[in-house]
Amino acid sequence: MKIAILGAGISGLSLARFLIEGGIPKSDVHLFEASSKVGGLCGSKTVDGFTYDETGGHILYSKDQVAMGWMIDCAGGASAFEKRQRETKIRFGDRWVHYPFENGLGDLPPQANFDCLAGYIHAWHRRQVERSPSPALFGEWVRWRFGDGIAKHFMDPYNQKVWKREMHELSSDWVAGRVPDAPIEDVLKSAVGIRTEGYTHQSLFYYPKRGGFQAITDGIASTVLERVRLRTPVREITKRGDGFRVNGEDFDAVVSTLALTDLPDLVAGMPEPVARAMKTLEYNSIVCMLVALDQANQPPLSWIYLPHDEQGPTNRVTYMSNYADANAPAGKSSFLCEVTFRGGTRAPGKELEGQVLAGLERAGLLKRSEVLFTDRHESRHAYVVFDPQYGARREAAFGWLDTFGIVPLGRFGRFEYDNSDQCVIKARALATKLVASARRG
Ligand SMILES: Cc1cc2nc3c(=O)[nH]c(=O)nc-3n(C[C@H](O)[C@H](O)[C@H](O)COP(=O)(O)OP(=O)(O)OC[C@H]3O[C@@H](n4cnc5c(N)ncnc54)[C@H](O)[C@@H]3O)c2cc1C
Repeated sequence: MKIAILGAGISGLSLARFLIEGGIPKSDVHLFEASSKVGGLCGSKTVDGFTYDETGGHILYSKDQVAMGWMIDCAGGASAFEKRQRETKIRFGDRWVHYPFENGLGDLPPQANFDCLAGYIHAWHRRQVERSPSPALFGEWVRWRFGDGIAKHFMDPYNQKVWKREMHELSSDWVAGRVPDAPIEDVLKSAVGIRTEGYTHQSLFYYPKRGGFQAITDGIASTVLERVRLRTPVREITKRGDGFRVNGEDFDAVVSTLALTDLPDLVAGMPEPVARAMKTLEYNSIVCMLVALDQANQPPLSWIYLPHDEQGPTNRVTYMSNYADANAPAGKSSFLCEVTFRGGTRAPGKELEGQVLAGLERAGLLKRSEVLFTDRHESRHAYVVFDPQYGARREAAFGWLDTFGIVPLGRFGRFEYDNSDQCVIKARALATKLVASARRG
């Protein structure tokens, strides 16, 4: 069975490895990759001794120990990784607020603490009395779950910054398991100053000692690199009998990790309503800006959230140099600043650097005199946006792909909010199916 895998990010690379390890001849596995390197969204970059994750700060953690162990083994084993404690905070004026926010109310100024606690209790009471179902729109869900105070002081401004949309333009589909959900006792304790942790799922994480997060995809790629055609964008996919043609070459099966929004321009003969559904799936793009600092000492933080406009356009700063010593030269440190923009619109221009630095300075995170240089990277597909039409559009896309025969995989191949471990888990499941079907002939 000759298989074309479109895209050599972690999904495509893992699938190739699992297929070959499952018995598919190596010569039957072909990866098409538009970029000059493998890794996709897991890519990292080193500039003048500073390493950063190009598409946003990445950490390795998973509920699936087997998948995580496999990723670690592929990249040189446990000794090739730092094991770090997650330390995340929200910058609120000149204060540090514990994350998740509702576990940090006692760190707020008294009035904001009161607003948030009173709103949380009202919302909790209303849920108990009215037994109201979880609202479908994100803005309403935030008030239903956290109350007006937390909405006003954190959730509304932070989410508007990340999603670049009003809260009523988003659905609440994506929140389960993503937005932490604290018991009311913990929130009460936190408001009066008793520390509660919340969201312990990512409390420990792994990060490669060298090479940034990309060391993981480099490791996965190491045994399949010869099967990857770099600088080879997929331009055309057509159906041919029971098989397919990709860029004019015959294959028995096609697995696509390319963004669903891009497929209509590549697949011949797609019905117009399906093409429209795929193209109108919403997403956000991202600019990631490395800030290299002539300053050794930083607080022992992993990353921080910047919800407020006066903190500039950055929504999250990752303390890259705290992830691994090799991420910055000795005596220096680095920040990675994430700025999202709506998919399909123009990336912010050169003015962004000044806006980012001015915001960080106002937030008390750096002094301009410490900045050695900045470097930026743009990624077109960064975040799946869950708008109210998301489910219907995706169903139309998947229904048609199923009859046509292209198998979708990966974060934007399936338009799912998946981290790299989920990509590995799904690639492993798909490989098992494909190997079984190849054995049946
Ligand atoms: C801001 C941010 C933070 C994240 N943080 C974490 C984290 O902390 N931990 C974690 O585990 N995960 C994290 N993730 C998620 C993780 O990066 C993704 O889940 C994963 O990298 C997706 O891999 P993929 O292979 O499915 O897709 P991609 O990496 O998008 O791979 C698709 C590949 O297809 C290629 N391609 C595109 N078009 C064509 C074409 N026409 N022809 C040929 N090739 C093409 C691309 O170049 C790319 O290499 C984060 C993501 C973002 C954006």
